[in-house]
Amino acid sequence: MLSVWKTKPGEGLEIKETDVPKIKDDEVLVKVKATSICGTDMHIYGWDNWAQKRIGKNLPYIFGHEVAGEVVEAGKNVKAVSVGDHVSAETHISCSHCFQCKTGKEHICENVKILGVDVNGTFAEYLALPHRNAWVNDKKIPHWIASVQEPLGNAVHTVFDGEVAGKTVTIFGMGPIGVCAVGLCKIAGAEKIIALDQHEGRLKFGKEFGADVLINSASADVKKEIMDATNGHGADVFLEMAGAESAMKDGLATLRPGGRASILGVFPKPFEIDVTNDIVFKGITMNGINGRKMFDTWYKTKALLPKMKLERLITHKFKLSEIENGFDVLKKREGMKVVLEP
Ligand SMILES: [Zn+2]
Ligand SMILES: [Zn+2]
Repeated sequence: MLSVWKTKPGEGLEIKETDVPKIKDDEVLVKVKATSICGTDMHIYGWDNWAQKRIGKNLPYIFGHEVAGEVVEAGKNVKAVSVGDHVSAETHISCSHCFQCKTGKEHICENVKILGVDVNGTFAEYLALPHRNAWVNDKKIPHWIASVQEPLGNAVHTVFDGEVAGKTVTIFGMGPIGVCAVGLCKIAGAEKIIALDQHEGRLKFGKEFGADVLINSASADVKKEIMDATNGHGADVFLEMAGAESAMKDGLATLRPGGRASILGVFPKPFEIDVTNDIVFKGITMNGINGRKMFDTWYKTKALLPKMKLERLITHKFKLSEIENGFDVLKKREGMKVVLEP
């Protein structure tokens, strides 16, 4: 089968012919119909500090993790998924026996293996997937749209980490997940959605998905604009999806007392925040968001997916063999979501 590998340190990838994976008794074989490129894949392709530390010991392997496809074979212990089912993948492969797994928090399993990071991923014609990680899709949803459920799930987990109906929400970072968060807040009845990014092109997507106020954080006085847009009180909810120090600081500074901060962004290095004034005295609630709750988030995502019109987010489609074109488009920030079809 055609497959896309990270074989050695440094920028780039390698396309190779390899054997179709043999499945174990508790796995299904998925014929990949669509796989989308994620920010994580950009880190792996570009081989930045994170990738060097996180992936260095896993080479060579097939990367990619956002997928939709059809089950073509099932191991003998597989339950609840059948040959012919359309599926996507929950990418956190949990151990099922650690404290977190046993107490309903599998998404933060201490022995987690991540698809396309720790084990062979989805940039291939076929994928071996543990049956518990196969999420059955509605056959009415086209594969190229179903493949972006994993990042939509991140947005669902973050947005519904607390109440949004009737709230004013700041969302920092209009990448695909941030834009999905805008759409979800709109559907959920947020009073006012304030979207921030440094790129006008990305802010346009925020507007398309329902943002009421757009702030270009590269040029604007961010704190002043948010306080003006909230009648001087600050936002009720702050969603950090940029992974930027300035976003974290501005988001906390413009959160009203008693507000909720949900942090999904991954930051390149540690930094200082004003804990006393921005967290303690304001009595805010702050949560870290990792992946998707297994599988509460997936049920919500399934219900919300048809309402999201995600085709608006998918700017490019390429054959899997043209994957380099996909990375090019994203590097130049010409695209939002790129879907590859084997
Ligand atoms: Zn992803
Ligand atoms: Zn575990």
